[in-house]
Amino acid sequence: MVRSNWQQQLSQAIRDPQVLCERLGLDSDLLAGAQLGHELFEVCVPEAYLAKIAPADLSDPLLLQVLPLGKEASTTPGYVADPLEEADHQPAKGLIHKYANRVLLIASPACAINCRYCFRRHFPYSENSPSRAQWQEALEYLRADPSIHEAILSGGDPLAASDRQLAWLAEQLESIPHLKRLRIHTRLPVVIPDRIDDALLGWLSKSRLQKVVVLHINHANEIDQAVVDACTRLKQAGVTLLNQSVLLKGVNDSVPTLATLSERLFEAGVLPYYLHVLDPVQGAAHFDVPDAVAQALVKELLEHLPGFLMPRLVREVPGKMSKTPL
Ligand code: SF4
Repeated sequence: MVRSNWQQQLSQAIRDPQVLCERLGLDSDLLAGAQLGHELFEVCVPEAYLAKIAPADLSDPLLLQVLPLGKEASTTPGYVADPLEEADHQPAKGLIHKYANRVLLIASPACAINCRYCFRRHFPYSENSPSRAQWQEALEYLRADPSIHEAILSGGDPLAASDRQLAWLAEQLESIPHLKRLRIHTRLPVVIPDRIDDALLGWLSKSRLQKVVVLHINHANEIDQAVVDACTRLKQAGVTLLNQSVLLKGVNDSVPTLATLSERLFEAGVLPYYLHVLDPVQGAAHFDVPDAVAQALVKELLEHLPGFLMPRLVREVPGKMSKTPL
């Protein structure tokens, strides 16, 4: 099988903490901690993302998102393996139904980058990677419920799946008359912008469904020209582009950083959508920004941005029928 450019980039991603430290000129003292964090959740950083990280700068906001640390092994009260209790909302393999009118399909167990704060870092992906035959059960569930108008492809990162697989899934979804929208939650256009290639745009642009891509960008440094070009190609294919960020200590917990992110997103044709507070997942407590600090940041941010560039500050609370505004 011939691999496309983005698949080659993904297969060549850095998956060894020692290589990551060496490539970025980081102190070898960090290695023992990085190795420990890596054993809990594998490091994964593609070259296109690595190129945006400043060498030898331990406070680089992109590095902080991907460098495994020994403190990920600490236990913190309230921080658990499945903070959103998704296991309770899976009527079929690969399908999560939490909110009215929409369902989430785990279209790929893989990600192109492993974000240290990820709320699915302990997700049992091996139990949620349906084959085509197994997808039928999830698709039957959708067909049988006319209240469902939107299918959200999630993961992992759904765009880590092959275009052949995604085109097949999109076709199945299009054949369900009550489905109106296809939403894709992805970080791949930010991590490997070459993922937005002709093969992807081919099946996406011909879909009858309204298309929304929700990107995941936490810092303006993640948006280089290649990302802007990828966003432009998506828009030309009729996609509405939104962004969700996670508020992360040391990464984006300041008013100038958040304001610059919103401005830069808009320049790339993307509207800020959500600013999530951290989900309390085991191993990520060091990223937490207290609610009062988050609320004060957003209040001040209002003074710096027009309303349409303000992301909504939210928390996902298990069992609630929507995100909870803070
Ligand atoms: S890309 Fe998304 S799902 Fe994948 S590790 Fe990062 S936050 Fe988690």
